[in-house]
Amino acid sequence: MLATLEEQVMPNSQEDGYWQAVLNRDAAHDGRFVFAVSSTGIYCRPSCPSRRPRRTNVTFYKAPDDAEKAGYRGCLRCRPRTANSNEEAAKIRSICRYIEQHLDEPLTLASLGSVFHQSPFHLQRTFKAAVGVTPKQYADSCRMNRVKTNLRAGQSVTHALYDAGFGSSSRLYERATSRLGMTPDKYRRGAIAATIRYTITDSPLGKMLLAATDKGVCSIAFSGSDEVLELGLKREFPFAQRRREDANLSLWTRSILSQIQGRAGSALPLDIQATAFQKKVWDSLTTIPAGQTRSYEEVAQQIGAPAATRAVARACASNPVAVAIPCHRVVRKDGALGGYRWGPERKQALLQLEKQAAKP
Ligand SMILES: [Zn+2]
Repeated sequence: MLATLEEQVMPNSQEDGYWQAVLNRDAAHDGRFVFAVSSTGIYCRPSCPSRRPRRTNVTFYKAPDDAEKAGYRGCLRCRPRTANSNEEAAKIRSICRYIEQHLDEPLTLASLGSVFHQSPFHLQRTFKAAVGVTPKQYADSCRMNRVKTNLRAGQSVTHALYDAGFGSSSRLYERATSRLGMTPDKYRRGAIAATIRYTITDSPLGKMLLAATDKGVCSIAFSGSDEVLELGLKREFPFAQRRREDANLSLWTRSILSQIQGRAGSALPLDIQATAFQKKVWDSLTTIPAGQTRSYEEVAQQIGAPAATRAVARACASNPVAVAIPCHRVVRKDGALGGYRWGPERKQALLQLEKQAAKP
């Protein structure tokens, strides 16, 4: 026990310098050591304004913890614990700033340790104690914040992720998804604060909503009622000004209605955000002729990712513009319909209408 205590006390050669710092009330030494006074049972930081004790009553300790382990209480006047944690906090803050400025580089504890002259283990421990997360987790959350800012500023998902040091692989996309609580493209869409014009018309598949930004069609959806469609639009674009404009959108609506009947319709300008992977899948869907179907496996093969069947199905299910991107033409390998975002009965009806129209 005695041996342990002695280790925590300063070696004699340093003590003279520390005593001088105490006599000078040198604030530059605050946080480097504390001095404990045996006659009062109290320990202080070097700059404490109270009267100087006798040298013979003073013991130096490296940290408040050490003084307290030896039975001393912190001085209420100079609050030595605060002094120490101030320096610690400054160090942690500078590590945070460093991480923020190096987000696009791979971050290792070893490299942080060498920059801040600490052992990786010690750095990780003190950082986590102060910030609540590890340096790596902190870097990730900074990247996520940057992604959010980029998405709100209107950057594409791929660009926003890449720009924030995430790269653009699907693994990172999924990690971003779990951190954002929704897919990045949804987040981006939700953040659109522009005006969105929409119209609702009758169609062979029930009520159809078509919505557009200044740049193009951003949503095509089906439902049984206007209310459900309007609520869906509000959920998808919570920050947008939504304005119903039936007449102005009738040209585009007629084109989609014509495509539902299996007739050729002009391709509409689309304003949708996609990951690189979604874009590949969606592009591939537009090459499937009306009246024909492909399996999820075939689409996966066509885009050169034969193992990504499930990801293809997910990309189909996240299609924001029904019919305009014909995700209904992808079915299961065994001939079963597979899922459809707007209900399997609509998928079946669409395929039937297209087949009829394709007959000579
Ligand atoms: Zn004091």
